[in-house]
Amino acid sequence: MSTTLLACGASSAQGNYGGYQATANQHLNTSEAKTLTYMKEEEKIARDIYVTFYQQWNNRVFDKISGSEQRHMNALAQQLVMNNLPDPDTNDAVGVFSNPKLASLYNSLINKGQGSELQALQVAAYVEELDIRDLEKVIAESSSSQLNQTYKNLLRGSHNHLRAFVRQITSYFNITYNAQLLPQSQVDSILNSNHERGNHGNGMGNGKHDGMGRGMAWGLL
Ligand code: MN
Ligand code: MN
Repeated sequence: MSTTLLACGASSAQGNYGGYQATANQHLNTSEAKTLTYMKEEEKIARDIYVTFYQQWNNRVFDKISGSEQRHMNALAQQLVMNNLPDPDTNDAVGVFSNPKLASLYNSLINKGQGSELQALQVAAYVEELDIRDLEKVIAESSSSQLNQTYKNLLRGSHNHLRAFVRQITSYFNITYNAQLLPQSQVDSILNSNHERGNHGNGMGNGKHDGMGRGMAWGLL
């Protein structure tokens, strides 16, 4: 954990370019840098899928949540800048990804949502489960408090998004939602929790929330 990839702008005034004596929350190791880059594109997958589904199905839930995903992308883009890392999304157009695995995932998820609005909502809920799983993993693996604060805000947003998509599935289509990726018990726990906001709380690893936070959070609907 002691290796640092790059000195970041925030500490350059102190001349810490070598990375020694690095302030823990201002420098990322190689693994943290890699996952941050990956997560930026995973947020773009969510945005692009919801933009596409909104055009296709004209359901406002996709429009609203794509706006939230744009804010998630912006938050991670800001973290990339603060850590002197390049943004993988050199082309912001919908459906364009630099990571070929994510490009392929995007295409397969779009295909799955073509059949019906219900299928599109199921794909959207899957995307949120995927994001929750991956955010919990990177939070557990990262020792950057600054990065983890950002990830935890995204995680709260993902919980809200999962609740919103599942609410549509259950209320419009009268279908019980079955977890697609996470344990059913964790999904049930998220679905039975209230809307989450704010920058406080720990939400880490168990899909729970404290619901006590206030103030700015761009992960909200
Ligand atoms: Mn998101
Ligand atoms: Mn989301």
